[in-house]
Amino acid sequence: MKAFVKHGREPGQAAVQDVARPTPGPGEVLIKVAGCGICGSDLHAFNNDPGYEFVTPPVILGHEFSGVVVETGPGVAPGMVGDHVTAVAIQGCLKCPACLSGNSHLCPERQVIGLHFDGAMAGFVTCAADQLLSLPSNLDLSLAPLVEPVSVALHALRRTVIRPGDKVVVSGPGPIGLLCAGLAKLHGAKVLLLGMNRDAAVRLPAAQRLGLETAIVEGESPEELVRSTFGPGMADLFIEASGSTAALKTGFNLVHRGGTMIIVALYNGELTWFPSPAVRDELTILLSYASTRPDYAQAISLMADQAMDFSVLAQPFPLENAEEAFQEALGGQLLKPVLVV
Ligand SMILES: [Zn+2]
Ligand SMILES: [Zn+2]
Repeated sequence: MKAFVKHGREPGQAAVQDVARPTPGPGEVLIKVAGCGICGSDLHAFNNDPGYEFVTPPVILGHEFSGVVVETGPGVAPGMVGDHVTAVAIQGCLKCPACLSGNSHLCPERQVIGLHFDGAMAGFVTCAADQLLSLPSNLDLSLAPLVEPVSVALHALRRTVIRPGDKVVVSGPGPIGLLCAGLAKLHGAKVLLLGMNRDAAVRLPAAQRLGLETAIVEGESPEELVRSTFGPGMADLFIEASGSTAALKTGFNLVHRGGTMIIVALYNGELTWFPSPAVRDELTILLSYASTRPDYAQAISLMADQAMDFSVLAQPFPLENAEEAFQEALGGQLLKPVLVV
């Protein structure tokens, strides 16, 4: 089968290769992959960025996937063959206190499919049957790789309560920021999505197709943009999804006293921060990482119900062109490239 393999440690040492089709072990199934999204973490692994030393080549990348079960390993009910599925990307031990409390994404033994072990940028992938979620027939397999990013956005929003009429500012129109903005709007919030000049070509127009208000912050006062969008006063909630420490710092000025910040991005550097103003404003600062199985389940039902037009996010590439898709994605111009198998 064809697979996109990170074959060496050096940045960019990854290519489409012919590899043997895997065989499902005990408790596993073999899945014929339909599509697999390229995630920011895949780009970091591709480039061997700091924090990704745990990725040990050769490894097939890919954790945001959908497919059809074609074979079951020992101990798995053969009735699963034919099921449309996706899988929880971060897999815990299912025995520790974090896992038993439903937070397997915080398990000390957590492993990510397609980073710690072979993933789904391939014709076929094996996966533990207990990590799978069934997809309903009215959810298109070509869109289902978006279930994981949708679940991440839902998890972030679940950190607080969003009420109709709340003023929400989202920084960063990548897939997670755009989904946070779109889902906050579904809650009835007034939403402003902030981007940069480089987002004007693809990302902000996609957000506008979802009916979102957008603005470019470069050369502008972000406080003034918030005022001109919402009227006097600052936002109730600021969501940082850009990964820029400068944007995070700006966010402290964009919420009113008693307001809330949710940080859902990962950063390449440290933040110098004078905490006293935020203490005096009694801000609530919430951090959000990845998602849990219930977030996946909610993402699946929202997508099956077509709660918003999720298709504006996905940009298909044939698996054979994976390298080109990675290079384009590194340019930051795409939303969610999906490798179609
Ligand atoms: Zn991901
Ligand atoms: Zn665990």
